[in-house]
Amino acid sequence: MSRRTTALASLLAAALAAACADHQAAEDAALRVADGSDGASGTPAPARDAAAPAPGAQPSGAVLTTASAGGAARTPNELGRIPVLEYHLLGEPGSRWKVERRRFREQLELLYARGYRPVNMTDLLDKKLDLPAGLSPVVIVFDDASPSQFSYVETKGALAVDPTSAVGMLLDMHRRHPDWARKGVFCMLPAAQQGHAFFGEKGIAGQKSEWRFQKVRFLHEQGFELCNHTLYHANLGKQTDAKAQEFIARGEMAIDSAVPGYKVRTFALPLGVWPRERSLARAGAWVDPRTKRAVRYRYDAVLEVAGGPTRSPHDPQFDPYHVTRVEVFATQLEKLLDQLDKSGTRYVSDGDPRTVARPTQTIAAR
Ligand SMILES: [Zn+2]
Repeated sequence: MSRRTTALASLLAAALAAACADHQAAEDAALRVADGSDGASGTPAPARDAAAPAPGAQPSGAVLTTASAGGAARTPNELGRIPVLEYHLLGEPGSRWKVERRRFREQLELLYARGYRPVNMTDLLDKKLDLPAGLSPVVIVFDDASPSQFSYVETKGALAVDPTSAVGMLLDMHRRHPDWARKGVFCMLPAAQQGHAFFGEKGIAGQKSEWRFQKVRFLHEQGFELCNHTLYHANLGKQTDAKAQEFIARGEMAIDSAVPGYKVRTFALPLGVWPRERSLARAGAWVDPRTKRAVRYRYDAVLEVAGGPTRSPHDPQFDPYHVTRVEVFATQLEKLLDQLDKSGTRYVSDGDPRTVARPTQTIAAR
């Protein structure tokens, strides 16, 4: 895992360049929301359709006590779209592919003010979106495990989370708004260049190599979700089946080394590129030649890099193996939120985990 070569560096550089080209093409699609052919659209008039209560489901009253201001006015629509946001580097002004740290903080506050609350992909997969009435889920995903997402500052031997890193700002959000949960998905690389190795190494951005596993464990303990993004971001479309499985399995193995036994359920495609044999993004195996041990992986969700807000898990057309995302840069988030509201396609909770609130037109159509 610690082997680095210049070949890796050039691979990553090529990968990142390709990512930009890819993102350029994806930009137009990024804000595409449900159109008329989509079960999630239709008139916003609400209706309730009782879903079979899950065994041991909580009475709804138990989860309705924290409905926040502004939430009650929104029409429930649990077949609506859910933004799965994609963040890469946080940084200083100037680069289109960076979100300024100051802007990231503003974006969290904007999401909060507009009635969004963070959930993990696993919550979405398990349909555990038990938010108070009028609120909406948002999945915040961080790709590539850079130090700007999670760094430590060391003072007299004591480590503290850097308040200007994404994790620092997420924890601060939770402190100031207790109903903003410590949730978010980190799609990590353990061994890419430029510090993209479990959030920094070798002094890059002041981060020590020995902090890497500690950071991954911390994320898990806080409630964030760990997601695999392969070993070092190679383009899986250019690999043999065996190599593609190796890159995925070695990412999986590194997470297991940091948090033994952790079940990784979400996989993010580097550059949004599928392996030639697509099923290998969902499940596969690789035998570690050193230990002769087989490393197997099987995911419940595969994240793409673009495609707009994703379908609700209650929507029969929801496909967990093609979860679309929206990359955040410039004013993309503001546009997305406006569009979801304007089009009436926003997922809005009815506050009752036992029912799925859906537009009346959809019910009539079934
Ligand atoms: Zn990536």
